[in-house]
This record gives sequence, C-alpha cells and structure tokens, in this order.
Amino acid sequence: MESTKQNPPDPQGRALDLERIDLKGMSEDEIVELCGEAGEPAYRGKQVFSWVYDKGETDIGRMSDLPKRFREWLAARARIGWLEAEETEKGADGTEKFFWRLGDEAGVESVRIPMPRTGGGYRWSLCISTQVGCAMGCAFCLTAKMGFVRNLGTGEIVEQFLAARRGLPPGERLHNVVFMGMGEPLDNYDATVAAVRLLTHPRGIGLSPRRLTVSTVGVIPKIKEFVRELPGVGVAVSLHAADEVTRAKIVPPSRKWPMGEILRACKELPLPERQRITFEYVLLSGVNDSSGDAVKLAGLLRGMRCKVNLLPWNPFSGAPFERPSDKCVEAFRRILAGRGIAVTVRQSKGLDIRAACGQLVDTVKMAERGWDGGKLPMAPVSVNKTG
Ligand code: SF4
Repeated sequence: MESTKQNPPDPQGRALDLERIDLKGMSEDEIVELCGEAGEPAYRGKQVFSWVYDKGETDIGRMSDLPKRFREWLAARARIGWLEAEETEKGADGTEKFFWRLGDEAGVESVRIPMPRTGGGYRWSLCISTQVGCAMGCAFCLTAKMGFVRNLGTGEIVEQFLAARRGLPPGERLHNVVFMGMGEPLDNYDATVAAVRLLTHPRGIGLSPRRLTVSTVGVIPKIKEFVRELPGVGVAVSLHAADEVTRAKIVPPSRKWPMGEILRACKELPLPERQRITFEYVLLSGVNDSSGDAVKLAGLLRGMRCKVNLLPWNPFSGAPFERPSDKCVEAFRRILAGRGIAVTVRQSKGLDIRAACGQLVDTVKMAERGWDGGKLPMAPVSVNKTG
C-alpha cells in the first residue's frame, strides 16, 4: 500500500496528519483489506472505495452509509489525499491549465480541454502528468529542461482527474484522459498501471479503457507489458522522425530503443481487434517536416494498424526550433493520407497559456535552475541528417 503526501490543509480546513494512510491511490482490494482490520466485511471496503473514486468524497466523516463507529475507526487511521490548484489559467479557446503544488513542494501541471459538440455542450479531455519533470530529454520539450525530479504516486495521478472533475460545470463529465503531461508514463510504470486500473474500475471512476491513452517515447519492454496487462487502453508512441539519425538527435532514448526496434515491437503487439496504435509526430521546421520525411514515414508504417497524429511544434523561448507553416503541415499530411495512412493534424490547444503539448513545466523548479520565464539557455541542435 502506498501513501502519497499532498498539501495540507484538507478540504475541511484541517491540517493533514501525513502519518495516516492515504486512501487515494489504494486499490479496492487494499481498501477491503484495511477495512477488514476493523472486522468489517468486504462489501464495506467496496463502499469506501466507491466513495473515494466514484463520488470523489474527500471526508471520511461524510460517508453517510457507513456506521458512525466505523467511520471514526477509519478516520483515525486513514485520510483521503487531494490536490488543490495553486494556479489555474484559462486560454482563449477555453483550455484550462492547473498547477498542482504537491506535499513536498514539487509541482505538476494538468490541462483540461473542452471540445465543442454539435448540438451544444462539450466533450472534455484531460491531459495528466505522471512525473515531476522528465528524464527523457526530448530536445523540443520544455518539461525536459526541468530534468527528472520524482515519480508521482498513484494517488497523485488519479487525483489530477478527480480534482479536474470537481471543477466542471454541473452535468458535465470528463470523457477522455491522455497521459501526455509531464513525464514518461512507462518510466513510472507501476503507478501508471495502478492509476489506469482505478480510472477504469467499474465501481470507481468507471471510464472505458478506450477513453484512455498512454503515451511513450518507446520504452519497448514496458509497452509490451502494458498492452498485455491493460488491453484496450490506447497507446501512443512518440516517433517524431522518419529516420534513426534525426530521431536520435531529438529523442535521446532512441540510442537505447532505436526506432527500427520500436516499430518491430509495435507490429507484434497483441492489440485487440479494433484497436490501432497511435504514432505521435512533432513537426519541426527544417528538421523532420520535408516531403521526403513524409514519404519515408509512410513507408515505415505501411501495413500497420495505426494512425498518425501530426503536432506542429509548440514554441517556447530559447528553443532551437521553429514551428512549420500550415502549408508545410498540410503537405506532410497529404503525403501520408495519399499513401493510405490514417492521419490527423492535432490542433494546439492552450498555446496562449503555455498549456500545449511539450510546454508543461514547474516554473519554481525551473527558477531554481536559473530560468526567469524568458529565453532558456539551450544548445543548438544540428539537423544534418548525415551526421
Ligand atoms: S516529450 Fe514527453 S518523454 Fe519527451 S521529455 Fe517531454 S515529457 Fe518527457
């Protein structure tokens, strides 16, 4: 059982006793076992589980269908960790970015995106983080500039969902969750898998696995394990190049997991019949966005059950890249589509609040590294593909 420290005080204004076990992040079996210590039957633990994840309750005292004596017993031993946004920013397109300060003063960001529905209302997507910072070092990503600080606990990952859900307009719900915020989810494998299980548990949050997508730079052994453990959950592999040399320059883990091996592994994944693997491709002007790159990429993916998401790069100050023109992006898309590859251009949401892909960061940790929010001191990236 894992205990995650989060920021006091709790929603009722009481200082948190961090010695009590945190129910947030515990599985149903673990909660049943804990409640069993009080001599309670399994169904009692299941009720508690449902209060924590389905109803999103943050106060054990308010679990009204539990006997008062048992609530007191539980409250003396356990608490329900929670996150409150230290800062929320809303962009012109309605995208909201939450900055969560964690118990140890580290911080992560999540992004909630409204997609207007024909007929009114919205479909809401949430992009969540799995690590504070990231060790992968992708050249085009602001999070990478923080370096790796620590893994998030299961409770901290799931609570990003519950906290973002609490702030929705009445009657609305979160439809999709993408693990594409700060960090490499498969580098924090156990907590990511446990969080997915909680998000999809029928007595918990109850999302369909199809509504979840976990992204990875291509941690080959873990992708295979993940697909076997959690069939039906979407997997998005960040390819970002059509040849090994270019990829190694912008995605450093390529040296450990070369693109050829990643593609071979993806071809062998035991995906459920109607599932396709997604390949993410950040378009960087003059680096990986030529028509030759598009042709090569189409050749690499020929015959695979896949789709490609093209992401025109989202700039941040000091980065040695440029965002390609819309014309160039469209030409790239057409080449892939013309060769039978399912492809979409992902619109950058929340660009004005630095909430788009690759732009999430803990500004305090960055300030400790001498960043003032302006231009970052960065080495130029050579894009000579023969180098
Ligand atoms: S793109 Fe993803 S994996 Fe790469 S450094 Fe950024 S957060 Fe990490």
